Amino acid sequence: MTETDVVVIGGGQSGLAVGYYLRRTDLSFVLLDDQKGPGGAWRHGWSSLRLFSPAQWSSLPGRLLSQRTDSEYPHRDEVLDYLAWYEGNYELPVERLVRVKSVRPVGERLMVETDMGAWSARAVVSATGTWSRPYVPEYPGGDRFRGEQLHSARYERPDSYAGRRVLVVGGGNSGAQIMAEVAPVADATWVTLEPPNFLPDDVDGRVLFDQATQRYRARQEGRDPGPAYTLGDIVMVPPVRRARDRGDLQAVRPPERFTDGGVVWPDGREEAVDAVIWCTGFEPALDHLAPLGLVRSDGRVTTEGTRSVGEPRVWLVGYGSWTGFASATLIGVGRTARATVDEIVASLEPTP
Ligand code: FAD
Repeated sequence: MTETDVVVIGGGQSGLAVGYYLRRTDLSFVLLDDQKGPGGAWRHGWSSLRLFSPAQWSSLPGRLLSQRTDSEYPHRDEVLDYLAWYEGNYELPVERLVRVKSVRPVGERLMVETDMGAWSARAVVSATGTWSRPYVPEYPGGDRFRGEQLHSARYERPDSYAGRRVLVVGGGNSGAQIMAEVAPVADATWVTLEPPNFLPDDVDGRVLFDQATQRYRARQEGRDPGPAYTLGDIVMVPPVRRARDRGDLQAVRPPERFTDGGVVWPDGREEAVDAVIWCTGFEPALDHLAPLGLVRSDGRVTTEGTRSVGEPRVWLVGYGSWTGFASATLIGVGRTARATVDEIVASLEPTP
């Protein structure tokens, strides 16, 4: 068993941002990550995935992503390169291929049990993201469907769908981007709960972040935040714009039910389907916190800022707005990470 002040669970962008600030303290710490290399969820993004926010708006604290690439909207591999460089440059102590199974209180400390031994810590930061918990909605007959099913978490490229009858399900950015590249090669149908909301062509991740920041400040100052674009709306990155212009982004409402070989639409029409690509989002990966009894039925933990209310030696970083404003983005997680480390330092300081 290894003793340390702080264990950070997860070595993706959120874990690295927390590590960046921990490194500036006197605390001992380690990052435990179950992947074989740097990058967290970005290791699993599809082949053509690009940021929807420009490089200078997509950086962790310390070094701008735009200092590592000339691309305006960097490709997944450029983000991976940046995160690997970041980890090495700041000498962040990441232990790889270590899967955390549970966190339990043992006296004054927390025991972090993994498949590679145990760590005993005074504080734990959970930064495990959502990518390993893909969400697939339940549909009547869904368990009978014998065709191929894949979540966007595992989608790589359109080639394997060539000439097949495919449903792309989900009205967010993943659904739009995957539909944009599957539609030209397959007999594809885009299924969304509501008609998709396309943002104006000139609104990218930077505009969304600016606007969200202004609204956040307005709310904090008790002002009316006014109307806004929604963060889940579709950013018209060039491939999506081209698909819309080709007429490939016509969406239909969901089928009534699945059958062995396809779907039945609300008008009663049956249609054969070979494959379904679920672009239906993710849930927080928090199984390791189960022994602490903190995870609510909605899959989240009650926090004040990022600190767990039920177990104040545990912090949660990077899962979305419930763990800090824009904390699931490269540019947003830095602020949350700094506040988290400030709190950890204050809580571990010996009381005078
Ligand atoms: P992750 O990157 O998932 O890292 C968590 C790490 O913890 C992983 O390595 C995981 O394997 C590991 N882990 C999980 N459980 C355990 C365990 N029990 N033990 C040990 N290790 C564990 N953001 C932007 O800023 N700009 C964009 O343009 C943008 N585009 C996106 C496009 C798509 C399609 C998606 C899905 C996301 C996009 N994001 C973007 C958001 C961003 O990629 C994610 O929010 C981000 O990867 C989350 O980082 P994280 O460190 O919190 O989690």
